[in-house]
Amino acid sequence: MSTPIEYLKGVGPQRADLLKKELSIFTFKDLLECYPYRHVDKTRINRICDIHLTTEYIQVVGKLVSHEVVGTNRAKRLVAVVTDGTGTLELTWFQGINYVQKILGIGNTYLIYGKVGFFQGQAQITHPEIETYVAENSQGKAYLEPVYPSTEKLKARGLGGKNFSKLVHALLMQLRERDLPEFMPESIVKELNLPSRYASINAVHFPANQESFESALNRIKFDELFIAQLRMGLMKAQRHRYSKGVVFEKVGDCFNTFYNQYLPFPLTGAQKRVIKEIRQDCGTGKQMNRLLQGDVGSGKTIVALLVMLIAVDNGFQACLMAPTEILAQQHYQNISRLLKEMDIEVALLTGSVKGTARKKILQDLAEGKLKLIIGTHAVLEDPVQFKNLGIAIIDEQHRFGVAQRAKLWGKASIPPHVLVMTATPIPRTLAMTAYGDLDYSVIDELPPNRKPILTVHRYESARHQVMGFMKEEIEKGRQVYIIFPLIEESEKLDYENLMRGYENVQAWFPEPKYWISMVHGRQPLDVRETNMKRFKDGETQIMVATTVIEVGVDVPNASVMIIESAEKFGLSQLHQLRGRVGRGSEKSFCILLTGTKLNNDAKERLKTMCATSDGFKIAEKDMELRGPGEIEGTRQSGEYQYKLANILNDKPLLDLAKKWAEQVAENDPSLDSAENLPLKNYLMEQKGKTPWSKIS
Ligand code: ADP
Ligand code: MG
Repeated sequence: MSTPIEYLKGVGPQRADLLKKELSIFTFKDLLECYPYRHVDKTRINRICDIHLTTEYIQVVGKLVSHEVVGTNRAKRLVAVVTDGTGTLELTWFQGINYVQKILGIGNTYLIYGKVGFFQGQAQITHPEIETYVAENSQGKAYLEPVYPSTEKLKARGLGGKNFSKLVHALLMQLRERDLPEFMPESIVKELNLPSRYASINAVHFPANQESFESALNRIKFDELFIAQLRMGLMKAQRHRYSKGVVFEKVGDCFNTFYNQYLPFPLTGAQKRVIKEIRQDCGTGKQMNRLLQGDVGSGKTIVALLVMLIAVDNGFQACLMAPTEILAQQHYQNISRLLKEMDIEVALLTGSVKGTARKKILQDLAEGKLKLIIGTHAVLEDPVQFKNLGIAIIDEQHRFGVAQRAKLWGKASIPPHVLVMTATPIPRTLAMTAYGDLDYSVIDELPPNRKPILTVHRYESARHQVMGFMKEEIEKGRQVYIIFPLIEESEKLDYENLMRGYENVQAWFPEPKYWISMVHGRQPLDVRETNMKRFKDGETQIMVATTVIEVGVDVPNASVMIIESAEKFGLSQLHQLRGRVGRGSEKSFCILLTGTKLNNDAKERLKTMCATSDGFKIAEKDMELRGPGEIEGTRQSGEYQYKLANILNDKPLLDLAKKWAEQVAENDPSLDSAENLPLKNYLMEQKGKTPWSKIS
């Protein structure tokens, strides 16, 4: 299977180069995994007279009436006309004209396939698939011919369409069952009634009929999903088996006192459940590596605090890290306030804590006097040493990088538990495929009595009313965000828009009656933070900003979120931004402002935003619109991209694959049993993707 493609009969060095460049086909395996994107039943013939405006692909048998080259130079094209007795159809080529002209013969009958277009009322196909019609085909049994992805270059060099499928066919003919050995454990093959791997690969290219194609397709999709799930399952199983974790044996005084006396509100059911999951996990003696998902405002902070208190109860230190200084401060203020009546010290460590204050914190941490620390990633810096760090909680981040994790490892003899919290909901299927190596908890319930945020879409022409509304809300003592897009490629333009927007707002809301904060990425950090703080402290009523304020900022008095050029934002971003309001007791509003020209995707996004505030629903829609590969923060999971499976449409299969993969990984994490050995060999062949170092 790893034989270089040039050794396939009919390929040779030059064509091999082309295959490598155009389709990344280097080996036999790559060619086999270049799956047809559809099959054509060449026995199904349409009549030309049946073509109408909504017809898409057609297949006709027609006699060639004429062909001629029209136009000159760049506009040169070959136009042929065919008829089947019921009507005429035009065929057009812009490329490979000489070659096509040579093979066409007037009066000959051809089988023609392609996408229908209309030009001045005349039906035509541009660059059709065309071959001499052989009558037996239509009398024999229906057979499905594969159609492969191709490029103009491949077609020009005789490697398009039919010729490509001939290559695949030739390869399949020379391969025996032992070249494509079964790797799936026999029990799974039996239980799920899967066709063999060899049969499936054959049938997915050249199926005998629709049923055998479907079961082959299903089997190969299952393989893809199963292998990816198995890899992650093995990582998880190894972690559980080999990496020792600190043990949180009990829930003690700190937790209980806080829970019984100082908890400001009853926890939601979801919060309780998640704390329980974490507690159990931290008590097993295995190191925990958990992703906690919860929509904006679902109350992750209090969960973090309670978990930290459990660590303290067991004699360990705990840290909470946020991606920005503002967020770290906010956590520090909240948590200090919550712990005010308790006898536990908590400190803030960020880049701007310097001098003796910093020295003291570092010393207390090293000596173990200080149990709770809140900070930015500065906590990970080298000079920071803990006496016995039990758990590190990372807020507002999808993925806590391997390098960062390694830094944590260095801070304790036994690696601390890691809890990563994210407020950007990820569809469950995506979480399963991208973060399957982590344990996973979800807060899927908002605290009670949340006032829903009213979201509306308004066109630019309604700006007057929007500003008027803003004024009313400010009169009532509320605060307002106005967000401008900032997209990297057009940063300069966006910056100018922001400045113009700022001036506009100033004109509507002049000092000294109104005060405006502005926050954007080009400001020095301290300016940004000063502006943010003024808004937070209520000194300014309006915050003009780019998405730098996106994450986590909590200003309960802010009740209006206006998003300019809302069509330029992705769904999850809009959702994040909207989550900045609706945090206090007042009714809140989100106004999406756009121009009138909107493409369908943008319309769909705006509609979704107005219809729901459920982060998970929004995430599902986002994945539907953009495709699983494009969802933020998961792009690095490209290694788990599938050739045939699609986690959007193949959810049931994904669930099935996960179930079986986990079973295998848990029962036999080194894949040493006779039944699993072929699986181990298969994974080994796919080098670099599985952490074998820890197994062997
Ligand atoms: P996020 O999950 O977005 O980080 P926070 O932890 O900031 O959410 O919580 C959002 C707000 O909800 C905070 O003001 C917090 O005090 C409040 N909150 C959290 N849990 C509850 C609860 N169970 N009941 C009432 N209010 C809660
Ligand atoms: Mg938060």
